[in-house]
Amino acid sequence: MLIRKILFTSCMILSLIVMGCETKPNEETVNTQIQPKSQSYFIYDTLVTVRVYDNQVTSQHFAELDERMKEIEGKLSRTLNTSELYKVNENAGISPVVVSDETYKVVEKAMKYAEASNGKFNPAIGPLVSLWNIGHENAHVPTENELAKTMPLINYRDVELNDEQKSIYLKKAGMAIDLGGIGKGYAADQIAEYLVANELNSAIIDLGGNIFALGKKPDGSQWTIGIQDPEVSRGNQLGKLKVENKTIVTSGVYERYFVEEGKHYHHIFDPSTGFPADNGLVSVSIITDLSADADALSTTGFVLGLKEGLAFMEKQPNVEAIFITKDKKVYITPGLEGKWELTNDLYEMADI
Ligand code: ADP
Ligand code: MG
Repeated sequence: MLIRKILFTSCMILSLIVMGCETKPNEETVNTQIQPKSQSYFIYDTLVTVRVYDNQVTSQHFAELDERMKEIEGKLSRTLNTSELYKVNENAGISPVVVSDETYKVVEKAMKYAEASNGKFNPAIGPLVSLWNIGHENAHVPTENELAKTMPLINYRDVELNDEQKSIYLKKAGMAIDLGGIGKGYAADQIAEYLVANELNSAIIDLGGNIFALGKKPDGSQWTIGIQDPEVSRGNQLGKLKVENKTIVTSGVYERYFVEEGKHYHHIFDPSTGFPADNGLVSVSIITDLSADADALSTTGFVLGLKEGLAFMEKQPNVEAIFITKDKKVYITPGLEGKWELTNDLYEMADI
């Protein structure tokens, strides 16, 4: 319970503010003819809120979404001992495990980003995540010896995918896939897909910082999404963004962390050092069409760092990004010019 509480609070801290979508809708931004109906769930250790702006939405839809999310968690969770991923990890160094098309597809996408980023995004990070155990009571800075034992087990090249059999094999005993950097985004996409299939085309889906702004507002205008000041608790806005049918996903240092001897250790690791990425960034937000891509890319950008990360995002088709540094500078990709507005004077826009 305590763990859940810690995670829940930390997820809230960096979650984006969806403007005009608070419990009481703001007349200025939302068509008063359509009152949104929303449902919250607690899944993937995260508060999930689905807010639908369509009078046709029913409790049956929300119940089916609950089922769908549980189904996804039942495949992709690392900790549920009945999940497909658990089975893959349990068989590390023993044998390949045949998985569902869905699990295979998510792991395949994670591996695509591992290759594109030369391993900075690393779905084989599991043993390192367990070693640090951030977000849990016994989180600690590992000893040199612990790190030396763990590092050989996080090579993404030791993950073998078999396309024909749809099987996954981890070549060394002790390896483990962790989809923490992509799974929530994938779930957000699946919620969006379910809503669209049910002709519910206007909604805000929020999975603890992974936002999917589906379609347009009921009055046909664009959604305004506020980006939170990554260093201040909930409510302080840093800037805002106008979007339609886009996802916005943020990775940041204040989402999950612990403090030891005055030093702040967060949950996004640089696989080349085994330590939390420490490169002057406080957050990276990605804006694109699919949340699974945005999720993986926000983690990737965070580990790559400002210069390399921005250059990487500029090469991705249809991807925009906002990088924020510890010294309160905000960098955006050129495609966001005219859509992004900085609203907080403590920060300033900057160029590389
Ligand atoms: P959050 O899930 O808190 O929104 P991220 O999307 O950035 O934040 O994902 C961080 C999670 O991804 C970590 O908790 C861990 O499970 C996993 N992770 C940590 N470092 C990496 C990495 N270098 N590559 C891929 N996944 C990572
Ligand atoms: Mg991510």
